[in-house]
Amino acid sequence: MGLSRFFSLTSNDIAIDLGTVNTVVYARGRGIVLNEPSVVAIETLNGVSRVCAIGAEAKLMLGKTPDYIRTVRPMRDGVIADVDIAEKMIKHFIEKAHGGRSRLPRRPDIAICIPSGATMVERRAIQQAASNAGAGKVYLIEESMAAAIGAGLPVTEPIGAMVVDIGGGTTEVAVLSLRGLAYSNSVRVGGDRMDEAITSGIRRRHNLLIGESTAERIKVEIGSARPPADGHGRSMRVKGRNLLSGFPAEVVVSEADVAGFLSDLVGQVVQTVRSALEQTGPELAADLCDQGIVMTGGGSLLARIDEELAEATGLPVIVAENALTCVALGAGQALEDPVYRGVMAES
Ligand code: ADP
Ligand code: MG
Repeated sequence: MGLSRFFSLTSNDIAIDLGTVNTVVYARGRGIVLNEPSVVAIETLNGVSRVCAIGAEAKLMLGKTPDYIRTVRPMRDGVIADVDIAEKMIKHFIEKAHGGRSRLPRRPDIAICIPSGATMVERRAIQQAASNAGAGKVYLIEESMAAAIGAGLPVTEPIGAMVVDIGGGTTEVAVLSLRGLAYSNSVRVGGDRMDEAITSGIRRRHNLLIGESTAERIKVEIGSARPPADGHGRSMRVKGRNLLSGFPAEVVVSEADVAGFLSDLVGQVVQTVRSALEQTGPELAADLCDQGIVMTGGGSLLARIDEELAEATGLPVIVAENALTCVALGAGQALEDPVYRGVMAES
């Protein structure tokens, strides 16, 4: 048994992608061990609040809870919006990743991803939350860098590469070269805004009010970044509350409708990528011609968004195979493989 194998069996170090929508945890030597919604349900009885569910269990309650339970997403735009709740959530996920054990032989080292736009204060907050949640050493790693490593891009070689990560809250665009970010930009356009656009589109067109989960389901099932070739495309029955009668009702929504609702947001993503390319130096730009663009994050699974981006840029575009987990995967590899040590900041 090699030495690294030995360490992988004894250590309980983990890497965490603390997303706005999903938290993914990678455990050294074991790979992805947890992938759950970043949602916390809080119950308030007689003026006293307590956490009653975290993760998948809490998400099931979204929009269906009685008055005394509210669901909270403690991350906003990739940074902590609610410190106390975020800490509880991180602690819960760390324990769960270790099979529910809250007492570990030693405090695990934790690599945690941060969006490139995070301020020093926001970085400190994430680091502090991880420490309070039980971490030993905390390493911070840029999310785009982690995504690139997870997607298998040659980040330790002097070759430029572009990563476009569409998450729940933001789209992060980065050009990477030699273990660093040569360019990065972030816009507040992501899966959440797509869901909102679908909700308001259906309200305008059909006078139907739908819930958050329904909007997301429409996006995943018949959402598309481009209008369907045959004009109408697939369609889907959608239930909600009719705003005129006040009663439950059902309408049929088409793929073409949804593409229309999403077109502004898709345009903003494309525009962000174009301005990133315009600001990339000629040597890196030349690399991008060969390497193309790699898309990650749940939003990159929107049908035909890769086509749209390829057409707008003239570059090859691929969606990473493990789009939803590759940030955590890359952070985990950075933690495991000394070759990547230079990309992380130790605090
Ligand atoms: P974050 O990193 O912010 O937590 P993720 O990368 O996990 O976000 O992506 C979550 C977003 O991806 C959600 O808005 C979700 O609705 C969206 N998503 C997941 N699957 C698809 C799909 N097939 N088509 C479009 N959007 C999707
Ligand atoms: Mg993400």
